[in-house]
Amino acid sequence: MAVQQNKVSKSRRNNRRAHDALVAANPNECSNCGELKRPHHVCPSCGHYADREVVAMADEIDLDEDAA
Ligand SMILES: [Zn+2]
Repeated sequence: MAVQQNKVSKSRRNNRRAHDALVAANPNECSNCGELKRPHHVCPSCGHYADREVVAMADEIDLDEDAA
C-alpha cells in the first residue's frame, strides 16, 4: 500500500477543493417545442436542432400492451 510522505493540512486540502464545486446547467428553451434543452444539443423531447427535425421521434411506447 502506498503511504503518503507528508500529511496534507486542512488548509491545503480545502484550497485544492475550492475549485471542485459543481456548476449548474444552463438550459435553453427549444425553439420548436419550448421544452428546456441543453445548448448546442438536439432537443430530447422533439428531436429538433436549429429549427429542423434531425432525429425522428418514435411514437410513445405503451408498456401495458405486453402485460395483457
Ligand atoms: Zn424541442
